[in-house]
Amino acid sequence: MSIADNLIEIKSNISDNVQLVAVSKTKPIKNINAAYETGQLHFGENKIQELVSKHDVLPKDIKWHMIGHLQSNKVKYIASFIHLIHSVDSMKLIKEINKQALKNDKIINILIQIDISNDGSKFGFSIDDINSIIYNNELSVFESVRINGFMGMASFTSDKNLIRNQFTSLNKLFKKHRKALSLNILSMGMSADYKIAIECNSNLIRLGSTIFGERK
Ligand SMILES: *Cc1c(COP(=O)(O)O)cnc(C)c1O
Repeated sequence: MSIADNLIEIKSNISDNVQLVAVSKTKPIKNINAAYETGQLHFGENKIQELVSKHDVLPKDIKWHMIGHLQSNKVKYIASFIHLIHSVDSMKLIKEINKQALKNDKIINILIQIDISNDGSKFGFSIDDINSIIYNNELSVFESVRINGFMGMASFTSDKNLIRNQFTSLNKLFKKHRKALSLNILSMGMSADYKIAIECNSNLIRLGSTIFGERK
């Protein structure tokens, strides 16, 4: 099936309140254009250099999502145009995003990445850390960063119960803090597990291979 067919198929099976981010990492410009021509506007990348060079040449109404680990010293390259940073995993990074947002005279929207898999390979704050992070008094001085919600990745496993438990734990955290922090985005689910994620209340899924085909 073509990229356009894949997108139509996926969108016909998810409800309108779930946002689809097309993860275009490693894929060429022509594939992104094929998706864009169907009306897809939200794209995700995980490397700064690739994100910047794609942003430079593609239509300016594309909304770019940074979904990979982000080093503080690279925030400056994306601050002017980034739509949402999903992978915020340290106070140092929040501080730098605030600084770059101020420089660009804008608010930068972020998600706090939570390590729900606990398998040692993923970045993110632990669920236990989160109170001290998000209710940190320091955070109130970061007036140019807006926390929109949480992002998490489940373990790479065929154990659906384990995946469901991990997504459920993040949904619990989301529900607990949603009102107090005015959160509206729960970013969970990739090609292999997005259906489970949506059942666990995800409203933003990040799909790469089911749209663009396997990556090499
Ligand atoms: C690569 C990636 C995805 C998409 O993965 P697929 O399995 O191809 O859908 C989603 N989220 C993050 C954080 C990624 O790095």
